[in-house]
Amino acid sequence: MDTNLKIPKEILEIVGTLGKAGFEAYPVGGCVRDLLIKKEPKDWDVATNARPEEIQKIFPDSVYENNFGTVGIKTRSDESSLKIVEVTTFRIEGGYSDSRHPDLVKFADNLQDDLSRRDFTINALALEIQNENIRNKNSNQKFKIIDPYEGGTDIKNKIIKAVGDPNKRFGEDALRMLRAVRLACQLEFDIEKKTEEEIRENAHLLKKISKERIRDEFSKIIMTDYAERGVRMLQNLGLMKFIIPELIEGVGVAQNKHHIYTVWEHNVLALGYSVAKRYSFEVRLASLLHDVGKPRTKQGEGPDSTFYQHEYVGAKMTRKILEDLKFPKHIVDYVTHLVKSHLFYYNVGEVTEAGVRRFLARVGPENVDDLIKVREADRIGSGVPKAFPYKLRHLLFMIDKVRRDPISPKMLKINGNDLMKILSIDPGPKIGHILNALLEEVIEDPEKNSKKYLEKRAGELNRLSVKELENLRKRAENAKEEFETGIEKEMKRRHHV
Ligand code: ATP
Ligand code: MG
Repeated sequence: MDTNLKIPKEILEIVGTLGKAGFEAYPVGGCVRDLLIKKEPKDWDVATNARPEEIQKIFPDSVYENNFGTVGIKTRSDESSLKIVEVTTFRIEGGYSDSRHPDLVKFADNLQDDLSRRDFTINALALEIQNENIRNKNSNQKFKIIDPYEGGTDIKNKIIKAVGDPNKRFGEDALRMLRAVRLACQLEFDIEKKTEEEIRENAHLLKKISKERIRDEFSKIIMTDYAERGVRMLQNLGLMKFIIPELIEGVGVAQNKHHIYTVWEHNVLALGYSVAKRYSFEVRLASLLHDVGKPRTKQGEGPDSTFYQHEYVGAKMTRKILEDLKFPKHIVDYVTHLVKSHLFYYNVGEVTEAGVRRFLARVGPENVDDLIKVREADRIGSGVPKAFPYKLRHLLFMIDKVRRDPISPKMLKINGNDLMKILSIDPGPKIGHILNALLEEVIEDPEKNSKKYLEKRAGELNRLSVKELENLRKRAENAKEEFETGIEKEMKRRHHV
């Protein structure tokens, strides 16, 4: 197969330099696949018969930090940003006894062997660049595609098919099963029938794969435009059980008269909405997980079944799911927070400004935009969206109105040091209690946020014991109105959750 292809200058240079030194060198794998699809390759990999030491000698500005034959060569790309091109000595893999890494890496003498170890036919491609093209720095010449497994045909037919016996290939490295789903989502391809059957058979081997590798492939799936399809594929192929088993608890779990979908279907549709809107990774994850707590909190059957506290149970489950997958702490914390806070209720006319301030204080003003996105995904994913945009607009209007109002201790016109000075008390929990009590009052009425008033009020509060101050706080917490009790009252009445 010959075709018109555009290859970056630095790749032509690397291949040319190796050629001049008497070695074979070919762009290989995903970059050749992407060229044929006419998609900009994310990274370029070069395979060569030069050994790592030889590559390093030819390119002094290179790094060799692993034992897998890959040397990183520093280049300047066309945009003159520093880029590392991976040049890897031809390899065949030795035996696999654990489904995750080869027992030893064996260098191979020829390209054919190197292509045979690659996962899918569409990735087992190499590009042969003739020397005269390199000399002329002509990046628009015809190049020869080396394609021993008919990957070109599979690209045309949009098929992902294992190289050789899929059962054996998944036995060697079980991550390939997830790569198949990821590529299907990224490229909008289908998985070939036999390959798919063997994924079903071998799905349990994912148990042996490190959580970090699973996390990375799963994250890539979630960030494609076809993530909804990807999550359904993971479930249909039996892989989801080894990634997020908690999500499967929602399969076949009917909700109540306010939903037409099962919990699983609703979660997946919510993800689909977030993807269609191109929301961030965190919002996509929160959409997928927002109702993960429902199966464990379901009470009763039929149209009047309820799911009390599912957002709290779901938040706990979310934390565990994401920690198990080794996501970084900031992602775990943030997605957990979104799941915990997703169930807010707002009705025009029933919520006071103080209620909106309390809501902002609880969820954090910086998180409100994402929270509303998750709420939207939830609403659209229910399949029977109730009129919300008007309410939503009104809530946004209210948030804007109170955005500058004090809602955190930092925003009070008085701080802990001031308190210690004017009340002549030592550092201790009492200061925090007094500040919290002052904040409660200021959230209720921002006019009270003046130094004069707060000093006077602090003096009065200081006469209370720590116990009495604590009771004050408890009473404030229990005096939940608006958003909080609004949720409970309204949900009991209308949503039956
Ligand atoms: P991406 O678009 O994410 O770069 P890719 O297919 O290029 O996708 P890479 O992880 O960059 O994926 O791998 C480059 C190439 O190495 C692949 O195209 C494939 O030929 C080979 N490869 C990668 N991972 C495996 C694996 N687990 N088993 C076999 N071959 C693999
Ligand atoms: Mg790649």
